[in-house]
Amino acid sequence: MRISYSGLDSYKNCPLKYRFQYIDRIREPKSREQVFGTIVHSVLRYIHTPGPVQPSLDAALNQFSQIWNSDLYDDEIAERTAFSQGVKIISDYYAKNDPNEFTIVDLESRFAIEIGDDATGRHIIAGTIDRIDATPDGFEIIDYKTARKMPSQEKVDNDLQLSIYLRAFLARYPKETEHLDRITVSLYYLRHGVKLSSTRTREQLDNLDAQFLEVISHIEAAEFEPTLTALCDYCGFQRLCPFFKHKFLEEKTIEDDDAQTAIEEVLILRDKMKSDKSHFAELQEKLLSYMDEKQVDRVFGSSGIVGKSVRRTWKYDENTLKEILEPLDKWDEIRKINGTALKGILPVLPVSARQAIDAAKVPDKESVSLTIKKTRDLDELDETVVVEK
Ligand code: SF4
Repeated sequence: MRISYSGLDSYKNCPLKYRFQYIDRIREPKSREQVFGTIVHSVLRYIHTPGPVQPSLDAALNQFSQIWNSDLYDDEIAERTAFSQGVKIISDYYAKNDPNEFTIVDLESRFAIEIGDDATGRHIIAGTIDRIDATPDGFEIIDYKTARKMPSQEKVDNDLQLSIYLRAFLARYPKETEHLDRITVSLYYLRHGVKLSSTRTREQLDNLDAQFLEVISHIEAAEFEPTLTALCDYCGFQRLCPFFKHKFLEEKTIEDDDAQTAIEEVLILRDKMKSDKSHFAELQEKLLSYMDEKQVDRVFGSSGIVGKSVRRTWKYDENTLKEILEPLDKWDEIRKINGTALKGILPVLPVSARQAIDAAKVPDKESVSLTIKKTRDLDELDETVVVEK
C-alpha cells in the first residue's frame, strides 16, 4: 500500500480517525492550530528560499501579515493573541538564526520510499521534509513544530518521523549511509525557540521497517478501534465517534437530566476528595513529626489512637536468583512471560511471529473506571476509579 507518514502517525494516535480521514475520505475542517502551523511553515520557507540575499525580519513579518487568515477567528482577542504569537515566533527565530548563514539543500522536500520485502509485502511511505541543510560536518534534516509541548530528548532520539526522514534522505544520497554520525536530525520547536537534535545508528534504521510494517499490518487487517486521548478535544470527527455519541444525542430524556445532576455531583465530590486527601496527608505528616519528636509509635487522643507501622516489600535480584536456580534446573520453571519482557523481544521477531503473538492475546482482568473531566478545563484529564470489578 502507499501511505503518507502523517497517515501512519494518524493511525497510531487513533485508528478510527485514520479510517475517517484516509479510507472513508471524510474531510476534516482544519483547526486554527493547523492553519497557524501552515502559515508559520510558509513564512519559514519564504525566509530560507535561496536568493542573492535572504529576507530581513521586517520582510518576513510583512509576509506573515499578508498570508494571515483572520476568517478563522470569531473573537478579536483570540485573533490578536494568535497573531502576536506568530510575530514572536518569527522575531525569536531571527534572534537565534541568521538566514544568510545556512546552506539550504532542499525545502519542503517530497519523498516516497519503499519499505518491506517479498515476504512482508512492499509498501510506499511518502512525506515532505521541511528542510535539509548542508553543514560544515555533513547534513542536517529539520522538521519545524508549532506544538505547545516539547518532547524529552529520549523521545527525539527515538522519533520515528525523523528516522523515516533520514531513510528518505539516504535513498536520495546513498553514499551518505557511510557517514551516519555526520547527519543530524532535528525537531525545531518554534514556540520555545529550541531545536532538539539527534543522530541515528544503522541498527535504528534497520529496525524501522518492522515498526512501520506492524502499523500497516493492523491497517490491512481493518483494525479501526477508536483511541481516547487528549487529542480528541481537537478532533473534527467527534460527531461520528462512538466515544462522543452522547454529546450529540438529539433526544433528551428525564434520565439525561438525572445523569447531568450526577455528573455535577461527581465533579464536586472529586474536588472535595482531592482537598480531603491533601489535608489528610498534611495531618499525617504533622502526627509523624510529633511521634518522632516524642520517640513513640502510638499517640493517644481523647477520641482515638493513631499508631505508626512500617511495611516492607521485597524483591529479588534476577541475576543472583538465576545463578542459584539455574544449576538446580529450576530457573525456567519460575520465569513467567510478562508484558514488559515480551515487549522487549517483539521488535526483533519476524512480522508473522508478532502477528501470531498478537492473535494469542486473551483478556486477563477487566476493570471498569469512570474518567471525569471538567469541560471548561481542556488540558486537565483526571482519572478516578469509582467502580472496579
Ligand atoms: S474523537 Fe478521539 S477517539 Fe473519536 S475518532 Fe476522534 S481522535 Fe478518535
